[in-house]
Order: sequence, then C-alpha cells, then structure tokens
Amino acid sequence: MSPEKSMLLHICCAPDACIPIPDLLAEGWNVTGYFYGSNIHPRDEYTRRLEAVNILSAHEGTECVIPSYCPGEWLEVVRGLEHEPEGGRRCTECFRLQLEASAKEALRLGCGYMCTTLTISPHKNVNLINSLGESISALHGLKWEYRIWRKNNGFLRSVGRSKELGLYRQNYCGCIYSFHEPDMELTKSAVTHLMKTE
Ligand code: SF4
Repeated sequence: MSPEKSMLLHICCAPDACIPIPDLLAEGWNVTGYFYGSNIHPRDEYTRRLEAVNILSAHEGTECVIPSYCPGEWLEVVRGLEHEPEGGRRCTECFRLQLEASAKEALRLGCGYMCTTLTISPHKNVNLINSLGESISALHGLKWEYRIWRKNNGFLRSVGRSKELGLYRQNYCGCIYSFHEPDMELTKSAVTHLMKTE
C-alpha cells in the first residue's frame, strides 16, 4: 500500500466510527480500520460491538483488521489502576495500549498515517488522546492525523447515523471496571476468574 493518503484508523466502536470513516473517504483517504477490542467486557459485549464494526465496514466498503480477543493482555496493562475513575490513569494506559497496537498494524500494512475515532466522544480528553497518538506515531515513523471528531456536532451526527444504519450503541465505555463500577468486589472476583481462564 502506498503510504501517501493511506490511513490506519483506530476504531473504538462502530457508532464512534460512523462519521470519521465516510468523512475520511470523502477527503480521499485510503482507510483501513483497526478494532482492538480486548478492553471490552464481557465477551458477549465484545461480540456485539464487533458485529456492529463489521456491519459498518461492509456498508462503507472498508477493510477492518480484527486482532484476537485477549482480555488478559489488557488486564495486565491496567493492573493497579482498577480504582481509577473513568477518565483517569487507567484510561490513559488503555488508550496507549490501543494506539500502540494500531501503530504496529499501520507499519505492517504500510500505512503512512494514523488517526482514532475516540475523539468523537463528549466524555473523552481529546487533547490527551491526540498527544498520545502524535507521540506513538512519531515513535514508529508514522504521521498522526490530528482530529477532534466531536467538533461540528460530530457526536450528534454519529447518534443519528448509527440509528439509520441500525448499529448497536453501548451504554458504558467498555472495560470490566466501567461495567461493574458500582461494585468493586464483584469486579475483583470477575477479574480473578478472567485471569485464570485466559
Ligand atoms: S473506561 Fe473505557 S477508556 Fe477507560 S479503561 Fe475502561 S475501556 Fe478503557
């Protein structure tokens, strides 16, 4: 693949990708998606979100790389950060892991640019995400495409388009800690179980 105008787009979920993908295609980018997914709990939820990503990719005519589902790898990276609030240090490490995995895939595919759909969310720190993306891209000799997708009503547009396309929209960020946040004891026992069965 020619690195010129070829982009690896990190996809956090289909609803967040349903505006960035068509917008980038309209700008002339050659887009390949990358759905990391191992942060998502439980597995059934991962499967639902993956199905939505596949529906969107087929609709847009874009490829999406899907690595194996390895929640144990993700849990190792955020070990010790279980009690962090959403938006805290656990999320920083979660973004870093996903963007590093994306950068490796971008290199493997010969993409010259990288970007993420994460900045469409009204709940996420877009400066942190873009700065992580920039430094990780530079480390791998890639260029970071700086975008804040929630600008210009990006989030509202994504809600409308997800409905039109019938995409599943989740009601929590994704990981076991955002899923079980009110009950840390329950979360701890679920994590122990996951680590044993991985
Ligand atoms: S709340 Fe979301 S961003 Fe934060 S660690 Fe969990 S999955 Fe990752």
